[in-house]
Amino acid sequence: MSRTIRVMENRELGKGFDARAAIAEASRCLLCHDAPCSRACPAGTDPARFIRSLRLGNIKGAAETIRENNPLGASCSRICPANELCEGACIRARLDEPVKIAKLQRFITDEERRLDMHILTGADTNGKKVACIGAGPASLACAVTLAREGCHVDIMEAAGHPGGMLSLGIPPFRLPQEIVDFDLSRLDDLDISFFCDTPISSQDIDNLLTRYDAVFVGTGLWKPKTLDLPGKELDGVCHALNWLKTARLEKPSEAGNRIVIIGDGDVAMDCATTAAALLAANVKLVYCRPIAFASANMAETLLAVNMGIPVLAEFFPKAIRGENGKVTAIDFTGADGISHMTLAADKIILAVGQEQQPDIASLPVHPRLFAGGDRTNGGATVVAAIASGKRAAAAILEAIGETPLAETRL
Ligand SMILES: Cc1cc2nc3c(=O)[nH]c(=O)nc-3n(C[C@H](O)[C@H](O)[C@H](O)COP(=O)(O)OP(=O)(O)OC[C@H]3O[C@@H](n4cnc5c(N)ncnc54)[C@H](O)[C@@H]3O)c2cc1C
Ligand code: SF4
Repeated sequence: MSRTIRVMENRELGKGFDARAAIAEASRCLLCHDAPCSRACPAGTDPARFIRSLRLGNIKGAAETIRENNPLGASCSRICPANELCEGACIRARLDEPVKIAKLQRFITDEERRLDMHILTGADTNGKKVACIGAGPASLACAVTLAREGCHVDIMEAAGHPGGMLSLGIPPFRLPQEIVDFDLSRLDDLDISFFCDTPISSQDIDNLLTRYDAVFVGTGLWKPKTLDLPGKELDGVCHALNWLKTARLEKPSEAGNRIVIIGDGDVAMDCATTAAALLAANVKLVYCRPIAFASANMAETLLAVNMGIPVLAEFFPKAIRGENGKVTAIDFTGADGISHMTLAADKIILAVGQEQQPDIASLPVHPRLFAGGDRTNGGATVVAAIASGKRAAAAILEAIGETPLAETRL
């Protein structure tokens, strides 16, 4: 594990519940008949059911509900926008405040890890073979659902480690790598093989379709969008995903001293908080939109603000300045068309979105070829990717003549 990951993991945000606090929190649940929290989870994690088990002290039953419905349950407990999903729907908020569902999920999956529970098991083989391209949440959820039905699944991943954005994008102080690796280790008992460092291109798909009963493509969005600014070629201008990836591997001092981040989404927030966590002296976030319309989750924005990172809203980047090929500053124009601002910078991080990689962008139309996750929804959340992977698995089972398990929640 690199030094940067260790430094960042040591700063993991927030502490979990102990058993007494977890059961007390679970006891606040009103046991709603129609459980809006469960209906609000795209991945079908079913909080109402695991909270019921927990309040009866049945931690194993609670862990089974999470793991069987959501193969990345430990990771999701840390990074789901719960305030917009299960906790946002929680009826208890009408009395005082929502049940802390994500924190309960974290407690239960921490117990699952402490007790080394092995919940996921495969079924008798049905002789079917499926290839999943990419090892992010969408492919993993698809693979787990299929393997639990008796299919053999080969996962082909371009990077050296599975997990997709969980391992390569989301900063370790929000999601420690050991938590991602724990979720991945729960797949060991299933008939799933991983082939890392194995990029697949559009040209390979026909061949895969001859070798497998079905193919799922969950390759996400990995080509950074850019801004057509004068000076964009200067040394020190970089794209958010590349910066986040290298920040995990480099020494903190190499992160740059005066960092300006352009963008108003979650990825921009992650760059800002990562830069601050790596002790970068001077980090500034600049948005085009008013703060109220920024696309980042409010919890992530508040985290950046609470770390003392200035957020400068309603400024459009105009030109990047440099000397000897290196960035020195960036000019902005205000949304009012009158104001101007120049910020000194050694590094400018563009966090203005991602799109599909050209090598796997186009896919043939074929009845046994499926796709899901960020590449089909335009970029959303981990639970949305899991949901789409589970839906694709159900469609694959139908296409290859297998009947899905009744208890698979979609
Ligand atoms: C910085 C950042 C922070 C985020 N924070 C959150 C958060 O807090 N909460 C949340 O819910 N969501 C968050 N998201 C969004 C979330 O990570 C994605 O929605 C989710 O990971 C999408 O899953 P996926 O499986 O579709 O794609 P990915 O996770 O992108 O996985 C795709 C995988 O396919 C591989 N691949 C790509 N091309 C090929 C190829 N040609 N051949 C083989 N393999 C290939 C990639 O290497 C990758 O491993 C964040 C995203 C980013 C970038
Ligand atoms: S909505 Fe809230 S109170 Fe109702 S079942 Fe879910 S967690 Fe319990």
